[in-house]
Amino acid sequence: MAFAYFEFSFYYLNLDGKPRSRFHKKGIVMSEGLKLEEAILHFENIHKISREEGQLAITLYPAIATSRAIAENIFPNTTSFVIQIPDDTAFEVKSLVDQRYTKWQTDRRRKQLALENKSNHFHSQTCPRCSSIVDLTGKPKTAMTYCPYCYVFFNQHGHVASNTSDYKICPKCRYFGRVSTYYDTAFYLYKNNKKKKFETVRCCETCARELFEEDFWKSLPFVIGAAPLLYDLYKAGIDRNPIFKGLAEANYQAHKYDVDKVRELFDIMLLRTGEHAGIYYNYGKAFLEASKALVRGGKSPFHPDVVPLRQKAIRELTRSLLLCSNYEPTIRLLQDNGEIEFVPQEVYEIDI
Ligand SMILES: [Zn+2]
Ligand SMILES: [Zn+2]
Repeated sequence: MAFAYFEFSFYYLNLDGKPRSRFHKKGIVMSEGLKLEEAILHFENIHKISREEGQLAITLYPAIATSRAIAENIFPNTTSFVIQIPDDTAFEVKSLVDQRYTKWQTDRRRKQLALENKSNHFHSQTCPRCSSIVDLTGKPKTAMTYCPYCYVFFNQHGHVASNTSDYKICPKCRYFGRVSTYYDTAFYLYKNNKKKKFETVRCCETCARELFEEDFWKSLPFVIGAAPLLYDLYKAGIDRNPIFKGLAEANYQAHKYDVDKVRELFDIMLLRTGEHAGIYYNYGKAFLEASKALVRGGKSPFHPDVVPLRQKAIRELTRSLLLCSNYEPTIRLLQDNGEIEFVPQEVYEIDI
């Protein structure tokens, strides 16, 4: 008899993020898998789950057999589907599922390494916050580990860096910052008829500021629109973690490619946070983006204005990985920008 761990209600969502059914369905996290109404999704078939508030995007391994009810909700040309569950149960449901499918994945990895006589290469850590197993095989041991399932950093003693879970990579600008949901209001005039449109935007404080600065001027003639926007702008600036005070401003200068201000603000930031893989990542990304902007403007990548920016970028990104070798955003940024590797000859000799 399977033991029911946790019950929740859910809707399948369509590509526009709208529920596909009128009434919610019942889901259960069970010992062998995730039960979605009558369909069972076995943990070993799950490749990854990502969460944005109450939305869970579930990606399956390709070419697996799954029940018809689930298959019908998979988006065309993908192996993913999205369910909406109540915000207050989303963390728990995701953590329970994460714990189980990551166990399958690490067991599989361990067996594969055993077949190759490389069992001693296997290396993993359990996240102290969400209990997912983070596979660190092939990664050097570093002071910090990143949990890609609940976005926190923790050290070798299982101590979680304080309150960092709403600080993560912004889906809009890809900088590390405080990510929240904002309501963007746009006003349109159609032949004397005011039309109002609300959109939900999930982004960091810096992106919100840019959005609101733009929208504020746009809707200034309509007093009714300006008030909620002002309130949102105010909200964007409160409840910050004091350790990350100034991060939104530093990221704002990064968006504007102002490298002198970026250098000044991130150096101050690091005095406050101490070594931090996310801050090093932002610092490196800011210089990388500034150098790319110069190249887009017509300068050669070998131009004396460009090379030092790229060297600084590599230096900060290297620091990020020396502190936390599995920090995915830095690894991905380096992979996506393979062309910057022409500089680093000397970078390996830089004393960091
Ligand atoms: Zn975690
Ligand atoms: Zn952003």
